[in-house]
Amino acid sequence: MLGLMQSQPLLISSLIDFAARHHGDAQIVSRRVEGDIHRYTYRDLSARSKQLANAIEALGLAQGERVASLAWNGYRHMEMYFGVSGSGRVLHTINPRLHPDQIAWIVGHAEDRVLCFDTTFLPIVKAIHDKCPTVQKWVLLCDADKLPADTGIPGLCSYEDWIGGHSTDYIWPQFDENTASSLCYTSGTTGNPKAALYSHRSTTLHAYAAALPDVMGLSARDSVLPVVPMFHVNAWGVPYSAALTGAKVVFPGPALDGKSLYELMEAEGVTYAAGVPTIWQMLLGYMQPNGLRFSTLKRTVIGGSACPPAMITTFQDVFGVEVLHAWGMTEMSPLGTLCTLKNKHLELPADEKMKILQKQGRAIYGVDMKIVNELGQEQPWDGKSYGDLLVRGPWIIDSYFKGEGTPLVYDEQGRGWFPTGDVATIDADGFMQITDRSKDVIKSGGEWISSIDIENIAMAHPAVAMAACIGMFHPKWDERPIVAVALKAQAVLGREELLAFFEGKTAKWQIPDDVVFVDAIPLGATGKMLKTRLREMLAGYKLP
Ligand code: ADP
Repeated sequence: MLGLMQSQPLLISSLIDFAARHHGDAQIVSRRVEGDIHRYTYRDLSARSKQLANAIEALGLAQGERVASLAWNGYRHMEMYFGVSGSGRVLHTINPRLHPDQIAWIVGHAEDRVLCFDTTFLPIVKAIHDKCPTVQKWVLLCDADKLPADTGIPGLCSYEDWIGGHSTDYIWPQFDENTASSLCYTSGTTGNPKAALYSHRSTTLHAYAAALPDVMGLSARDSVLPVVPMFHVNAWGVPYSAALTGAKVVFPGPALDGKSLYELMEAEGVTYAAGVPTIWQMLLGYMQPNGLRFSTLKRTVIGGSACPPAMITTFQDVFGVEVLHAWGMTEMSPLGTLCTLKNKHLELPADEKMKILQKQGRAIYGVDMKIVNELGQEQPWDGKSYGDLLVRGPWIIDSYFKGEGTPLVYDEQGRGWFPTGDVATIDADGFMQITDRSKDVIKSGGEWISSIDIENIAMAHPAVAMAACIGMFHPKWDERPIVAVALKAQAVLGREELLAFFEGKTAKWQIPDDVVFVDAIPLGATGKMLKTRLREMLAGYKLP
């Protein structure tokens, strides 16, 4: 017997309709590429998303065709989130930090029909437009009077010109909630990138889950600043969750340095921010020497790579800001786990609580996870046994765009699990802790050493700005860890001093064999440490 409730497809357009109707005057504030501050409301966002949808209809794009963005976090990008997907086309968010050749490859692979880009990325588009035969329209995300002449890009128009003449009346089409909504390529550290193709259903369910109190905890009282780029897994879903809750949104545009972020947060009363650890390092690096404090920021979600415990402590003890350590990946929309305490932990001493909060956290409803050994056998949840981390759930990919391999592993019940490529432990309370990317695992004398543990210890040293631990070939132990370290400006630190700092903080045999000082740890397109490049940099290196 079926239930007798209304059946409505979960569509992204319903999020903007809801925000416009119930939070119509809540603000969307953007720092623009030009440097000025733009301010409007969900009502305006809704109207302009509809203008964009009409412009797309006028172009004659079929349902499911791709409209791409090469853009910072800003209001026009958010209009694309709703206008493109809401009209039944697929928004393809491109990471501008990739190599231009890789961008051209991605545009071709996705068969993008329209490409909208910020002025910052004009040089990229000038370089690649003639290698992108699928693109029939190039749009510069700028005011009509700011369109530069003679760019050489055929038919280039300004976004305002493109949508300006179109009506703000548009009835969002209703379709199957499993229809594709947006496309995001992984950074592709090995080989050509692969893409996750999200659906309206997966995106809407993820937005619901993200807003829960033990997840992002977003509300209509928040002013949320996604530093995480809208080209990196849809800014972790913040634009959708913000519309679902009616939160005020503050977009930083291209100004991601500590000073600009701090000033924007203070000016706009930001209560909640989200980003990768490297961004927060820049922010704290600006605030601490200048003796600055947050007056409104309450919580920040930090993920994308392991958040060093020293950063959690600084945020909490020095700035009174709660850190929510999160783990996820492009293939998971991206949220998988978030670290918040349970009721039974509330009375624990502060250092015990901190030990828990350093972990990547508990699964969100909608995500199931397990760890398995090399034979695929599930490992116990004892906080010690480690294994490959597998996940399943309605916002986790089933297969990659254009069927590039079926990634799932099937269990006895025929259920498909996505292998994350991470190695983790899970404790009896369900708190998961990543020890490594499987490709970064260090195996010394048959025992694993967690590179993240080593990096966390090194980064707790006051002179260290960033640390990356990698395994080096060793004739007796197979591999031994070394740690590459970039120091803070003006800081002085010797090899022996840093090695001594590890004493008592980890088992003796896990202490790195050597320290290599580098000017900077190489970072990838999403701000994560790029160990492949670090290994190339240290190609001639020999263990002492
Ligand atoms: P890519 O896989 O292309 O680098 P993703 O953003 O999808 O881009 O990266 C997902 C990976 O990032 C995860 O599989 C994990 O290795 C790492 N990661 C994400 N969040 C964390 C975290 N909080 N702690 C440790 N690693 C993390």
